[in-house]
Amino acid sequence: MKSMEEFREEIGDTSFVSVRGGGTRWNLGGPLREGTIIVEAPKGVINYKPEEMIVRVGAGTKLSTLQDDLSELKQEVALAGFSESTVGGSLAVGSSSHRRARIGAACDVLLQADCVGADGKQFVAGGPTVKNVTGYDICRLLVSSLGTLALIGVVTLRTRPKPEIGVWLKGELDFGEIANCCYRPASVLYDGSKTFVFIEGYEADVEKERVFLEKVGMTVMDRALEIPPLQKGETKKDLNGGFLDLQTGDVYSNDANSNIEVSEEVQRLSNRIKQNFDPTGRLNPGRKPH
Ligand SMILES: Cc1cc2nc3c(=O)[nH]c(=O)nc-3n(C[C@H](O)[C@H](O)[C@H](O)COP(=O)(O)OP(=O)(O)OC[C@H]3O[C@@H](n4cnc5c(N)ncnc54)[C@H](O)[C@@H]3O)c2cc1C
Repeated sequence: MKSMEEFREEIGDTSFVSVRGGGTRWNLGGPLREGTIIVEAPKGVINYKPEEMIVRVGAGTKLSTLQDDLSELKQEVALAGFSESTVGGSLAVGSSSHRRARIGAACDVLLQADCVGADGKQFVAGGPTVKNVTGYDICRLLVSSLGTLALIGVVTLRTRPKPEIGVWLKGELDFGEIANCCYRPASVLYDGSKTFVFIEGYEADVEKERVFLEKVGMTVMDRALEIPPLQKGETKKDLNGGFLDLQTGDVYSNDANSNIEVSEEVQRLSNRIKQNFDPTGRLNPGRKPH
């Protein structure tokens, strides 16, 4: 596995530079400036600590590989992606799972990030423990920053227990009726005419909830619902083959709309943060995290 020192050397301290993961959201946030050097983050799992519910892994590791390995330990990380997505890419775009209402958001997964900053020096954000209360919470700033503040080499992630089973049901119930039948559904998605519910947990509990939902007209689906990526900042509009999450208000669709309005205040704050982290604008130039 590539070391952090090798990663740092490739990044250097002068050129425009970007990290490429699986390339599944490569143009998100705008095209990369021409002439930008592209590097890859270290790949591979460094260690699992299932008893402490953490894992340390190179950011270039495929997310699907990590999830498969964790699955053998009956654990998972609350990140989502496609089969080629990397751990670093998922953190950089901030991709939460469609099960976010139950398992939490991407920004809560990253405990420690070993990074290279715009000055070409290595730094460590966060710490390797779940209870870590000192200093600024840089890790939460890095998630969704699209690699514009620092380039992530190695990460320590929080894991969580993997549910025993999960079941998709579909029907025409509204959210209130669904909430009467089940405790903390993992997903309640609406496509403009039908409602899709995903329940998960211990088999006995899921079975009970399944029976309640079937009694009020939902039917079990024979395969998992295919869900496109979450579109940041979108609100309910023409769903066009996508889904509205009735618990979080998120929209999942293949119809990316990059014209999201950002308030002046947020833009000013965001510019100040970028200026502090990367005064010459050399990290992922051209990308706008909003
Ligand atoms: C159910 C589901 C939910 C999803 N939710 C979301 C979502 O919430 N938001 C969303 O945009 N996509 C979402 N996706 C899409 C998916 O998360 C991305 O395709 C994937 O995570 C990107 O990983 P990648 O390795 O392909 O990144 P790439 O496409 O290679 O890179 C994406 C960006 O991240 C930067 N980057 C990559 N690695 C690093 C690194 N190590 N350090 C710093 N910067 C880096 C790149 O420079 C680039 O700007 C979702 C997909 C699914 C299936």
